[in-house]
Amino acid sequence: MKEIVDLRSDTITRPTPGMREAMAKAEVGDDVFGEDPTVNTLQQRCAQLLGKEAALFVPSGTMANLLAACSQTTPGDTVILSRDAHMFHYESGGVARIGGLMTKLIDSPILDPDAVTDAINLSDDDHFSHTTLIEIENTMNRGGGAVYPLKTVQALGAIARENGIRLHCDGARLFNAVIAEGVSPVEYAAPCDTVSFCFSKGLGCPVGSILAGSRETIVKAHRYRKMAGGGMRQAGVLAAAALYALDHHIDRLADDHRRAKQIREAMAAIPGVSFPLDSPTNMVFFDVPAAPRIVTRAAEQGVLAFDVSPTRIRAVFHLDVDDCDMNCAIEAFRRAVNC
Ligand SMILES: *Cc1c(COP(=O)(O)O)cnc(C)c1O
Repeated sequence: MKEIVDLRSDTITRPTPGMREAMAKAEVGDDVFGEDPTVNTLQQRCAQLLGKEAALFVPSGTMANLLAACSQTTPGDTVILSRDAHMFHYESGGVARIGGLMTKLIDSPILDPDAVTDAINLSDDDHFSHTTLIEIENTMNRGGGAVYPLKTVQALGAIARENGIRLHCDGARLFNAVIAEGVSPVEYAAPCDTVSFCFSKGLGCPVGSILAGSRETIVKAHRYRKMAGGGMRQAGVLAAAALYALDHHIDRLADDHRRAKQIREAMAAIPGVSFPLDSPTNMVFFDVPAAPRIVTRAAEQGVLAFDVSPTRIRAVFHLDVDDCDMNCAIEAFRRAVNC
């Protein structure tokens, strides 16, 4: 049994021995010159995986979202997104400071197509900023790992096309959605102009995200990546980890989803604990009377989680958590709530 069970995030995973071996063996070159063969392979494979013309390897999901915004809008435009979106909530205001965009917020985690239609502005009246981008998040982090129904993504894609505006999907955890819904990555990506996903979350890599779209959009994103300081040199060591994850770490996401359901069932019996959100993927949010105190007590027993509000705790399952760790966590939370 490991000493610490870390459920703070699926970003905490460390590369496995197999992944490290793939990284050590990677063929590399200078990717700013377009000469890293492993990065080129990864970009081609991701473009194909998502059914897009081109893809770009970037250091983080935050940068992928930023490049998607910069390459598909003009400063002063408006992007429509959820109030709970990572892009709005957790990216240090980059969409405003660097993207120069206004945000039009929708109150639900999963965007309702009618609400989006109502929020779009394309009028000729010079008073109002034009809407040029819709942003969705699949799965939805602050929505409890909620999954977009394919039909909703298709409806939003249709709205974007009818209005001549773009649709970006922040798919940091796209493969969690793919596994949970049985929808293929191509199906999920088809209605979207650009799609990003993270290698450094559930897929277990140390670093890296991908942004995919049309060749024209990715050429623009490539320029913005350079501008943002995201041009990397022998990045093939990181791309090799990503290729390894695509081969070995997608199917196992189902285990994370099962554990999220199991811990939820086990903890439902604890008085004072309630579950405000569904847990369709790898996250469990639970409400308790005093979250910081309970997080501290669980940490004293070697189980780490985040208090995301004074009364809400988030636990995330990932590659470095097994069934034994899950059982430890259940016991630690039970004791922490009861004492
Ligand atoms: C983690 C995350 C990102 C970006 O993550 P980085 O830490 O910048 O790689 C973007 N969107 C969502 C939904 C995320 O959970």
